[in-house]
Amino acid sequence: MVKYDAVICGAGPSGATCAKYMAEAGLKVVVLEKNSFPRDKPCGGALRPSIIEKFDYVKNGIKKIPHNVCFRAKMYSPSPENHVDYNPKKVVMYNIQRKHFDELLVNLAKDAGAEIRENAEVKKVVKNNGGYALQIKNKKEVQGKVIIGAGGMHDPVAKYLRKKEGQPEKWPKSDIGLVVMEEYEVTMDFIEDRYGKERTSYFHLKPNNLFGYAWTFAKQNALNIGYGAFWNEMKKVNIKDQFSKYIALLRKEGLVPEYLHLKNPKGALIPLRGAIKTTYSDGMLLLGDAAGFVSPVGGDGIYYAMCSGKMAAEVVKEAVERDDFGKKTLSRYQENWYREWGKDLQVLCYFADKIFARTERVIKYASKDMKLQELAVSLYNGDRRASDIKWKILKRYARDFLVYDVFKKK
Ligand SMILES: Cc1cc2nc3c(=O)[nH]c(=O)nc-3n(C[C@H](O)[C@H](O)[C@H](O)COP(=O)(O)OP(=O)(O)OC[C@H]3O[C@@H](n4cnc5c(N)ncnc54)[C@H](O)[C@@H]3O)c2cc1C
Repeated sequence: MVKYDAVICGAGPSGATCAKYMAEAGLKVVVLEKNSFPRDKPCGGALRPSIIEKFDYVKNGIKKIPHNVCFRAKMYSPSPENHVDYNPKKVVMYNIQRKHFDELLVNLAKDAGAEIRENAEVKKVVKNNGGYALQIKNKKEVQGKVIIGAGGMHDPVAKYLRKKEGQPEKWPKSDIGLVVMEEYEVTMDFIEDRYGKERTSYFHLKPNNLFGYAWTFAKQNALNIGYGAFWNEMKKVNIKDQFSKYIALLRKEGLVPEYLHLKNPKGALIPLRGAIKTTYSDGMLLLGDAAGFVSPVGGDGIYYAMCSGKMAAEVVKEAVERDDFGKKTLSRYQENWYREWGKDLQVLCYFADKIFARTERVIKYASKDMKLQELAVSLYNGDRRASDIKWKILKRYARDFLVYDVFKKK
């Protein structure tokens, strides 16, 4: 039986990025993916600018696929009374479609020498004399010195690791969000006309008073419209009905064509309360959504997925060199990601609670106070560490409360 240095479950942004870096480092790596590419994935398809800065190959890569560069964002409070118009004259986000973006990342991994096996759903983790293997159809086992869970929320490696490390096997319901979205083809002229040269992105916070937000992102010739909140809250509402109302609001604002109506939105769950406690064990690591690396404020995770893939590749390379796949060696992965964003995810949980509890006020202050606006945007796009700016934001918020609500300055 071929023994790979690493066997990865899932070829999303985390798995494909990990495979690319591993193959470039000379490791023998295979990715087992249940779908075949191109495949779609429910997502807003917004990339933080820091993805392009950190992974310079993405900048050239996205030029080859349909994409937009967004320079402006408008954010509305639940009552449309207050809104923030963020127009920084620099890139706010890159807008891609996952169908194309994920295929691009997979092709880059293949070019680097990684093996990608499509239509190979991982059924379970098997422990045997050689360590661990992932079992696919026909009970075939693919053996790795390290096995890596990059299969998103329902990743089988993550399930196994959580149990092994004494953590709950399932995500607590209170920790997950349900996000629904649909993409609609429109003409490029429509995008140009309504979303302008800046390709403005729209956010509507707390639609229907849910603890979450709705968005509209302009792609090259499509609109990506979505709506999400904590699962506990979403289950109380008629999602299709709410989504239709959101589209009606956009229609009124001229942001969707008259003919555009809800068709068949797709939903998916995402972890919204930060990382799980342990993301490594002997011979295994977890990446991306499988590890809970999603921003509790914005609900975005592609940045963390790709970064965690790169970090895992570095640690596995060292493990292969030392021929040591024990827990201690692989714990460096957790040390590394924790240093990068561990505290930030906790701070973002704190701010998600605050922002959604006082949305009207936050938007009101941010619409008048450029400094607060800049700081709040940093929580979304991660250009500054949330843990570094926590107190600056709180001080600014307290100041704005005095200025605009106590002394009633206009
Ligand atoms: C509706 C919605 C909107 C979002 N919008 C944004 C956004 O705008 N920007 C952003 O940054 N993030 C967004 N996110 C979050 C983002 O989609 C995830 O954080 C990101 O995709 C995580 O990447 P990943 O590689 O960890 O997992 P995934 O992208 O989920 O990839 C997992 C891969 O594993 C495969 N797989 C799963 N199970 C198995 C199995 N058993 N065997 C083999 N293969 C398997 C899947 O087919 C998939 O290809 C959104 C999420 C949702 C649900």
